[in-house]
Amino acid sequence: KLHNTILELKGNIRVFCRVRPLLSDSDSSGAEEAPISYPTSVESAGRCIDLMNQGQRFSFSYDKVFDHVASQEDVFVEMSQLVQSALDGYKVCIFAYGQTGSGKTYTMMGQPGIDQKGIIPRSLEQIFKTSQSLESQGWKYCMQASMLEIYNETIRDLLAPGRSSNFEMTAGKQYTIKHDPHGNTTVSDLIVADVFSSADVTSLLAKASQSRSVGRTHMNEQSSRSHFVFTLKISGSNENTGQQVQGILNLIDLAGSERLAKSGSTGDRLKETQAINKSLSALSDVIFAIAKGDDHVPFRNSKLTYLLQPCLGGDSKTLMFVNISPEASSIGETICSLRFASRVN
Ligand code: ADP
Ligand code: MG
Repeated sequence: KLHNTILELKGNIRVFCRVRPLLSDSDSSGAEEAPISYPTSVESAGRCIDLMNQGQRFSFSYDKVFDHVASQEDVFVEMSQLVQSALDGYKVCIFAYGQTGSGKTYTMMGQPGIDQKGIIPRSLEQIFKTSQSLESQGWKYCMQASMLEIYNETIRDLLAPGRSSNFEMTAGKQYTIKHDPHGNTTVSDLIVADVFSSADVTSLLAKASQSRSVGRTHMNEQSSRSHFVFTLKISGSNENTGQQVQGILNLIDLAGSERLAKSGSTGDRLKETQAINKSLSALSDVIFAIAKGDDHVPFRNSKLTYLLQPCLGGDSKTLMFVNISPEASSIGETICSLRFASRVN
């Protein structure tokens, strides 16, 4: 039984699925087998994912499926061209969607260790390396980075000084999103840092991640409850030809997609979960509308979609990762995630 809605893609939207390996410390008391079986036929290899739940077979297909043994390098190889297109002046968004613990941050950021690096550090290395090699052809690039999180429909600047000690210090900031007719987005009061090397960005990322985790203890919040948005603005000009390009690379680690019942939310948690659900479904609505070629795309229904409006649709490029957990106990959430992304697809 196929649960996929295959649509003719109008936008440049691709969906990749990645299955995290079983973790050695995960609950193995049930000793159940991972519910996910991998495609065996050559034609469908790497495109389909099948799983069984209560005797029912579910089959989903994507542009690419990475199984539990796929390395960070294997994943990046499939998307380095997309990253490259930001240098050619495209607006690119790469999202990681999935329940908490499914591997979103591992996919986007990775972990310490050369081969554990995720998409964000690999993209930066590639971009700076390529921009340098293009210098011989007359290209000069300026890069600017910003890092923010969206929590309960509120923007927080992860590079704002002093934020680490007190969230309220940024309370006076507006963080109003404005788009100009040229497709440039500004967020008032947001720090946009000039960066000259991938090391520059790495140290900003470290600062951002510290800011996130300190904030976490302050507000008893988890980073899994907010969307993390990394933006690199790339302006290039060629002194030989006079050509100019303006590309944007947005790398987004979305809030955990787990549903309400499981988190047993009340009070603030309930509000958080509702805000997350609202913005994730707003994102899905937007991407679905673009994929269908709808005239009206409901960008304004969430901060995230409004922020990214100029980078979604048109001739921009979008890649959605759906990260899934292999544990049998996650099967319900896994099917929900796969459905979300196949609707996108
Ligand atoms: P999320 O950000 O979706 O909550 P994480 O990226 O933090 O999930 O992943 C949860 C745990 O699983 C982490 O300990 C992470 O290192 C590990 N993990 C996730 N994906 C992989 C993978 N492909 N290979 C090895 N370990 C992984
Ligand atoms: Mg995470």
